[in-house]
Amino acid sequence: MGDLEPNTSRTIGEKSSFVDFSNTEVAFAHKSDKELRKAGWLFRLMNKKWLVDLSSSMALIAVRWRMPLSKWLIKATIFDQFVGGESLYECQDKIKKLWQNRTLTVLDYGAEGKSEEEDLDEARDQFMQAIEFAAAHESVPVVSIKVSALSKNSLLEAIQSKESLTIHEVELQSRMEKRVEDICKSGYQHGVKIFIDAEESWIQDTIDHLVEAMMEKYNQEKVIVYHTFQMYRKDRLTYLKHCFELARSKGYLLGAKIVRGAYMEKERERAEEMDYESPIHKTKDDTDNDFDLAMQFCLDHYEEIASCAATHNMRSCMLQAQLIGSRSLPRNHPNLNFCQLYGMSDHITFNLANAGYNVAKYVVYGTVKEVVPYLTRRASENTAVKGEFSREYGLIRKELRRRGLI
Ligand SMILES: Cc1cc2nc3c(=O)[nH]c(=O)nc-3n(C[C@H](O)[C@H](O)[C@H](O)COP(=O)(O)OP(=O)(O)OC[C@H]3O[C@@H](n4cnc5c(N)ncnc54)[C@H](O)[C@@H]3O)c2cc1C
Repeated sequence: MGDLEPNTSRTIGEKSSFVDFSNTEVAFAHKSDKELRKAGWLFRLMNKKWLVDLSSSMALIAVRWRMPLSKWLIKATIFDQFVGGESLYECQDKIKKLWQNRTLTVLDYGAEGKSEEEDLDEARDQFMQAIEFAAAHESVPVVSIKVSALSKNSLLEAIQSKESLTIHEVELQSRMEKRVEDICKSGYQHGVKIFIDAEESWIQDTIDHLVEAMMEKYNQEKVIVYHTFQMYRKDRLTYLKHCFELARSKGYLLGAKIVRGAYMEKERERAEEMDYESPIHKTKDDTDNDFDLAMQFCLDHYEEIASCAATHNMRSCMLQAQLIGSRSLPRNHPNLNFCQLYGMSDHITFNLANAGYNVAKYVVYGTVKEVVPYLTRRASENTAVKGEFSREYGLIRKELRRRGLI
């Protein structure tokens, strides 16, 4: 994603690649006492699964029916923790604060599940505005997009599964492709990188073909378009290597965001229901193993692959830091990046930033109504059941104690 200008004191190829992720002073330096207390309170509430389940369904209904106070309540709590703002303008303070703490921003317009053509054009326009905003702010080198925000899901699925499309579907397909192309072209013209998210396996082939075409077109001199590789899929390490060979043979550069994958339950349920072999690894260890191999592969070819380890997993982040160190590469090499979601894993983000690595937060933005589905996913991810909560809350408590606040 690039060098961070404010961090001028970075040294190149440092001896020690140890990053202390338990340093809460660095992790929460950007939060005032009041903000830290509020975050602690929120993560404590999110420990209660019944409360998260209940408030998630209530939030959806309340926002849909415009119930009084619902928007204000969501905005003052979970929205404030995990979302940049309702508009690009509203995100500015948070982006500035990240930048002051040596952290870049990846803008992520959070609208999901739209299907009318005019709404899809409107989403394309939102992404284009984000690119213009990014071009004017050096703290924002990347805009992230989801192909499913630019097309009906059923169309993406039909393109992947059908042998022939109807005339109407062919027309919708070319409109969808044009939207993606418009965005990548604008990214290229403005020098703003475009991360294209990976989605469900039944629409991912369609996305793969599009991203490959966009990379071939716009990654000739430098990496503008980044593909996303979900390492919970059994076939993705091979696919990453295939993409690398393809890029090499056609003479362009590969952009690779490496993730574990967000749709595991959905993927498994569908495979079982429709009686085909699940594309997802059987165990977490297998996913972890492929994630680390993928990171290693990108590092081995760092001159031809610009990569981003998009993860909240401390061990993977430490491994990437160690690999950078053991190869004596500059910590802030523009092709070696880390990324976490806004509001989560600050102990990873800000300790990496403090140690001189390129690190960014995905800053989601959109109206409260638009981002409620995103928020309910964040809330359920942070319940005690998934284990995230205790880690986040434990670290906040440690910092509250260090500041003498509890
Ligand atoms: C900046 C950023 C961008 C992202 N972009 C995308 C994207 O484009 N597409 C996308 O799909 N996801 C995306 N994600 C989400 C990501 O895929 C993970 O769901 C999430 O980050 C949790 O994984 P982890 O590596 O952070 O941590 P961990 O907590 O170490 O890993 C949890 C993940 O491991 C995998 N897993 C868990 N249990 C098992 C099991 N029993 N068997 C096999 N695998 C298992 C699942 O993928 C699960 O989400 C993104 C995440 C971040 C931080």
